[in-house]
Amino acid sequence: MKVALSRVHFPVTTLGPGRRVGIWFQGCSVRCPGCISMDTWHPRQADVEVSMLLESIRGWLAESDGVTISGGEPFDQPDALMAVVEGVRHLTHGSVFVYSGHSYSSICSHPAVAEGLIDALMSEPFMLDERQTLLLRGSDNQRLHLLTEKGKAEFSCFERDDSGDTKNLDFMVDNDGAVWLAGIPQRGDMRKLQALLASQGHVISVTEGRQ
Ligand code: SF4
Repeated sequence: MKVALSRVHFPVTTLGPGRRVGIWFQGCSVRCPGCISMDTWHPRQADVEVSMLLESIRGWLAESDGVTISGGEPFDQPDALMAVVEGVRHLTHGSVFVYSGHSYSSICSHPAVAEGLIDALMSEPFMLDERQTLLLRGSDNQRLHLLTEKGKAEFSCFERDDSGDTKNLDFMVDNDGAVWLAGIPQRGDMRKLQALLASQGHVISVTEGRQ
């Protein structure tokens, strides 16, 4: 089984509890206006063996509190998602958290959901015109489903307003020098960052939509 991947990273501290392994799938059919991850939209040939992916993150899993799978749209690769989740389950007792832009009704029959292999699931598309007050969400229409006892224990604390005391973004530098962010920025954060860097003579492009 192969998967189209955007990237993997550890540690990610802004997409669920603790220090997590982040796995971003490549390709998204949902295409929410205002998405900040447009670089993950383009579908690509699935070219990474899931077994190789699991081997590459095995060491991180031993140190992590769980795994967050995002994208892109993980459920656009349903078989690969199942293989990744099953493999992760064999390698760690940490929690599995998955983001999807699809409606819950359209993905709840996926075996990883139905069989309780996913502890917590965020569903529904990002909506630019919705309020953004809740933790872990880009817009308040997004729904957090606590699917297992572990999911309830670890994620129920995220069913609350963001009181401003929570870190929203991880800042990362890849080996090739690329700088990128993981997490859920507040509305306008990327534009503010762009303006700040521009004032210092740097040029960056952002894929965040209109404000
Ligand atoms: S927010 Fe998520 S589901 Fe929506 S277009 Fe972006 S990557 Fe796809």
